[in-house]
Amino acid sequence: MSRFAARIREIIAAEGPIPVERYMDLCLRHYYATRDPLGADGDFTTAPEISQMFGELLGLWATEVWRLAGAPGSFGLVELGPGRGTLMADLLRAARLVPGFLAAAQVHLVETSPVLRERQRSILARSAHTPIWHASIDTLPEGPLIVIANEFFDALPVAQYVATDRGWCERMVGLEGERLVFGLRPVSVAHARPPRDGEILEEPRIGSAIAANLAGRLARVGGALLTIDYGYVGPAFGDTLQAVQRHRFADPLADPGEADLTVHVDFDWLARIGEAAGLRAHGPGRQGDFLRALGIESRAAALCARASQEQAAAITGALRRLTGPGPDGMGDLFKVLALAHPSIENIPGLLPAAAIQEQLRDR
Ligand code: SAH
Repeated sequence: MSRFAARIREIIAAEGPIPVERYMDLCLRHYYATRDPLGADGDFTTAPEISQMFGELLGLWATEVWRLAGAPGSFGLVELGPGRGTLMADLLRAARLVPGFLAAAQVHLVETSPVLRERQRSILARSAHTPIWHASIDTLPEGPLIVIANEFFDALPVAQYVATDRGWCERMVGLEGERLVFGLRPVSVAHARPPRDGEILEEPRIGSAIAANLAGRLARVGGALLTIDYGYVGPAFGDTLQAVQRHRFADPLADPGEADLTVHVDFDWLARIGEAAGLRAHGPGRQGDFLRALGIESRAAALCARASQEQAAAITGALRRLTGPGPDGMGDLFKVLALAHPSIENIPGLLPAAAIQEQLRDR
């Protein structure tokens, strides 16, 4: 048993069962602090690691949003949870097409992991921008921001509530001998819908606080937040807690701190937080539609035109993974939502949320 797994057991032995939210928090801190989990040799891979096209298109997206925001002479280009820094490196390279954007941008990376900060430092050493690192969003500068969060909100802990015949109970992690097991503790949770046996409600308190804080700033100072993640348009009642280890699903309690723990993101919840702060929601749309609207197909064709046959096959494969349907494709499962200052009427690649509601009503 690892030292960390033993420490989790000590905590539970001393304090009694701990909420899933605390378990996730302890595990995720340990997990991200002690490794680079990305890529073929790691536990999972992400869109920017699949192809440079992803970060490049987000670069063009960001330059256009900057222009729509009135081309501020100075702004913060922020990434939440930048992983290896690949997305930001590709974004900055593509943004060279708009020199005014690069001159106005200061790069801010919100990252807790010392291992990943080092990866980000080395990949971005080649760019003209020296990033400023932050342990949380609290220290981000005042002034307009363009914020990108790819697979960030899914990596934050959630509380889980289960409907039982005793009412809502919080899902806990306890010990049965040496084994970690799920359990329940009665709580009073106000929810409009009466509990139906077995339903699970996930409450992303930590993500909500981050989203609400950022949305408040954006409403005051201008700019936009782009979130890309796997998720659904809520409300949904189900257990979305997943462990992934070496590219396979695993038991979230089997190897604490050594597997990635994630949840699906409720995009409706994120949109509501933005709107409550006075921002306009654009989307949620599907990643495949978003990337096609930004021109990924012509970018892939341009790259293929100067590539060897082997490289061209890899580019076409990456295009299919980023935009295609499941199970291998991310195009439908991954959703994209922008929350923008109301002075920005249209966001590239996404329909205003109001138009989406209308389309749904017309069906
Ligand atoms: N965006 C990257 C990496 C996604 S993995 C990509 O697409 O490849 C999640 C990232 O969020 C990692 O960089 C991880 O270290 C970071 N992270 C996790 N929890 C965090 C927190 N509470 N605050 C800041 N960063 C966090």
